[in-house]
Amino acid sequence: MRGGFIVDKNYRAELVGVLGDPVDGNPTGVMEEAGFAEAGLNWRYITVKVLPGDLDAAMAGMKAFNMRGVNLTMPHKIDVLKHMDALSEAARVIGAVNTVVRREDGTLFGENTDGKGFVQSLRDAGVELAGKRICLLGAGGAARSIGVECALAGASRVAVINRNVERGAALAEVIGKNTRAEAEYIPWVGPAKLPEGTDILINATCVGLHPHGDECPDVDFGGVRPGMVACDVIFNPVDTPFLRACAARGARTIDGLGMLVNQGCINFELWTGVKAPRDAMYATLKAEFGV
Ligand code: NDP
Repeated sequence: MRGGFIVDKNYRAELVGVLGDPVDGNPTGVMEEAGFAEAGLNWRYITVKVLPGDLDAAMAGMKAFNMRGVNLTMPHKIDVLKHMDALSEAARVIGAVNTVVRREDGTLFGENTDGKGFVQSLRDAGVELAGKRICLLGAGGAARSIGVECALAGASRVAVINRNVERGAALAEVIGKNTRAEAEYIPWVGPAKLPEGTDILINATCVGLHPHGDECPDVDFGGVRPGMVACDVIFNPVDTPFLRACAARGARTIDGLGMLVNQGCINFELWTGVKAPRDAMYATLKAEFGV
């Protein structure tokens, strides 16, 4: 019998992934793996369910598996901070990490790419933020990231409308203290009224997310006018009642898919050091959603 042997073959893929709960419907892995395939990289992105009390064990496992990095999603974006050896300026100001990079020396670097992906999706649509007046609905993780990055990108005013007073006021304070933008908190009582002169209206709440895709944030859409830009962070479904209501009043709309692909590209580049094949990643994501 003849024995065979293998020379110089690497069956070990570099690993990245997402830790969170729920993650079953998270499409990021499909998008990232399409990017790895297109770039010819032997990398895999695994989607891992990590329950709220299990993050410490999961981060130890991530290190033990020599993973190159991870994304964090609900409910771990804040708890993961204590595992970081270094933070980007944005992650420090936002107070949350959605992307971890494991450096060559084994230390963990935390970044927050949600807001950066959002700002890029505006630029992709030809919308510049310099001098713009923003009305931001919500003050959760996505809203914090978006509010801070819009202000850092030059928005002149950010009005935060949120039900929970503490969270809303805290976000306005963070933006006011750390950026040049004016920031104010407006309590959400009854249909939200847009401040005079709003240029860009952003739904950064989770209202309208599958399986509640027919729900719409309680907004006085009478304040929406032609020329205004309306954006939704919800990407599932891609077309939301919020965007439809804004479009019906003449606003230009930007859906949440662009933000998702852009933050996916930023993560790809942070991990691999290779330029992300955005077209392939975006096409894969669109195919997933049938748009
Ligand atoms: P959080 O749980 O941190 O925040 C939820 C926010 O929604 C809070 O401000 C909350 O207000 C508000 N909210 C919830 N229900 C209502 C309601 N009925 N009326 C008004 N406000 C409400 O979630 P995240 O910020 O992490 O995520 C928000 C959304 O962003 C999710 O749908 C997520 O899928 C999406 N997202 C999209 C990304 C993309 O790439 N497109 C990236 C990241 C997130 P309160 O504080 O008053 O409770």
